[in-house]
Amino acid sequence: MKRLIALTFFALLLGSTSQAAERPQHLRIALLITAHSAGSPEAFTVSGGRWSIERKLVHPALLVDHPQGRFLFDTGLGREIDHAFAANSWLNRKLLAYEQLDPALDQLERAGYQAGDIDFILPSHLHWDHLGGLPDFPDTPVKVLPSGLQEAREHGQRPAFLPEHLQGTREWQRLQLSDTPYMGFARSLDLFDDQRLVVVELSGHTAGQVGLFVNLDSGRRLFFIGDTSWTLRGVAQNRSRPLFVQWIAHVDSDREANAHVLQQIHQLHQQQPDLLIVPAHDEEVARQLAQFPQFED
Ligand SMILES: [Zn+2]
Repeated sequence: MKRLIALTFFALLLGSTSQAAERPQHLRIALLITAHSAGSPEAFTVSGGRWSIERKLVHPALLVDHPQGRFLFDTGLGREIDHAFAANSWLNRKLLAYEQLDPALDQLERAGYQAGDIDFILPSHLHWDHLGGLPDFPDTPVKVLPSGLQEAREHGQRPAFLPEHLQGTREWQRLQLSDTPYMGFARSLDLFDDQRLVVVELSGHTAGQVGLFVNLDSGRRLFFIGDTSWTLRGVAQNRSRPLFVQWIAHVDSDREANAHVLQQIHQLHQQQPDLLIVPAHDEEVARQLAQFPQFED
């Protein structure tokens, strides 16, 4: 009898964890805000931005839950980020300050998921604020364009990169884009061959930055553009980051290439107003997305 009770309890326990991690019938997405920036005038975030408006950019991870695979597009900041961040210079700690840390894995675990429920991580690029949660998922493969990993490993320095996250024995998988154009981008990868999730290359901000198109059953279409622009205002007005920010922090690996990609996304934004453009850090756009544990499908 005791054994039966124990077995029943065990089955219930298993049932409660697997329920959260059960494969969905349809593609669904949820945004996990892992931290907020400490705030800065909008003029710091985009050329021509307002000095009178304070922006509190966010550091998100996007949970993408597809019947054939569950992954994070970016990880945001993770459990070890305070320690990693402490090694930065005083100036960089001020410039890049964050608050309200709530790592993706903490949020997932509160909802009954485990790290092993994530099949892979697909970072938009390899900067600290997009990959800071990587150590929380030590056994999860990471899919990248080889050019992005090469740049990060050979030239990546603090504060933009955390070199310790880019070495080691982790499984780095090569993203293979084909020559099939998609929405004006020359190369693309249809992740599960159903036109729901399409990766395109957006090199400029870093080498090998990628964007993700998400086409939901509801008809809603979204385009996650990493850090091509920090704000939708930058996309709408086709304005890059301010030059003085580039001088201080060397934000873009190739400023001209990034401006070219931004121009392309700006045109797409004008031609297709129904397509929601999602710059990773724009807190106003983030509010238009379902916040985990809520999903949108
Ligand atoms: Zn960023």
